[in-house]
Amino acid sequence: MNDPTVLQESPSIDAIRAEMRARLSSLMPAFEIDIKAELAFEINRLKRQMNAVILGHNYMEPALYMSVPDYTGDSLELARISTQTGADIIVFCGVQFMAESAKILNPDKTVLIPSQKAGCSLAASITADDVRRLKTMYPGVPVVSYVNTYADVKAESDYCCTSSNAAKVVKHLQDEGFDQVIFLPDEYLARNTADEVGVEFLFPSQPRGHVAGDPENMKRVVIGWEGRCEVHDKFRLEDIEAVRKQFPDTVIVAHPECSPEIVAASDYSGSTKQMIEYVRTTQAPRYLLLTECSMGDNIAAENPEKEMLRLCSIRCPHMNEITLEDTLEGLQKIQYEVELDPDIVEKARQPIDRMLTIV
Ligand code: SF4
Repeated sequence: MNDPTVLQESPSIDAIRAEMRARLSSLMPAFEIDIKAELAFEINRLKRQMNAVILGHNYMEPALYMSVPDYTGDSLELARISTQTGADIIVFCGVQFMAESAKILNPDKTVLIPSQKAGCSLAASITADDVRRLKTMYPGVPVVSYVNTYADVKAESDYCCTSSNAAKVVKHLQDEGFDQVIFLPDEYLARNTADEVGVEFLFPSQPRGHVAGDPENMKRVVIGWEGRCEVHDKFRLEDIEAVRKQFPDTVIVAHPECSPEIVAASDYSGSTKQMIEYVRTTQAPRYLLLTECSMGDNIAAENPEKEMLRLCSIRCPHMNEITLEDTLEGLQKIQYEVELDPDIVEKARQPIDRMLTIV
């Protein structure tokens, strides 16, 4: 990774066009690549002139992903990098909760998001009032919030986590003596995490006594919430069965926001960063990635020698709102600045900092 404190020079239009043609020709026609290259050149010129840094999530569409971000990664990597850059302006090419995290970690900087429509079904599934109600139901039980939550929900939480460190955070709390942990808002990530650490899962609406099996096991519980990622919720066991039948040597890689049944039927499960690393460092005849479509495209573009199977009707509509056109307009007008109540920023920072100290 480049040193985040040193922003790289903007490449020439010829260099951008050549690079984009080389990497995107299997995904879009040449005339479209050339239009996007012009936009990318102008964005890169402007960001250096304005001392701005662009952070691009792994789910950005390929033309944007490979042309304008100074850094790409998952939400945890980008949050970390946001604290190290010397730029005055952070442009977050991702969804709203990610841009909010950058603002929480950099309250004195201008943080822009290219589109105000880039929400998230998971983040929208829970409110700060919901968390306060849960804390009343389970006094003293620590609250772990997935980073895919809005700032006011984080402000009510004890720890944050990502899909790559969820189990570590829950284990840390168990080591601290907490048998019960509230884990919000993704039901599937909570269930997959409970499986990984070997404890039961329940919803707040279910009485404790419902848990089957060894009564000792009931002592340790992950209490979840009924939020789901509308993208990862779409994968079905039939998809896996159909692929295994046609291509039995396919290695299937699933994101932990998929259901536990999908994760169990896959060969590997990990965060976006872990999935990228897995494909990069393993040799399989072909891979099937059960995650957001553009990430599959981006991994395919970076591993042209590896065969990727696609189930590519599954694009996140929120990530899809972030385009090169909007990114350029955002820089030109310095628009869609993330603004948060300073009190929320201060409170929301604590669970993020606690997470960063244990991972
Ligand atoms: S992929 Fe799922 S979790 Fe990620 S932003 Fe889209 S809806 Fe939210």
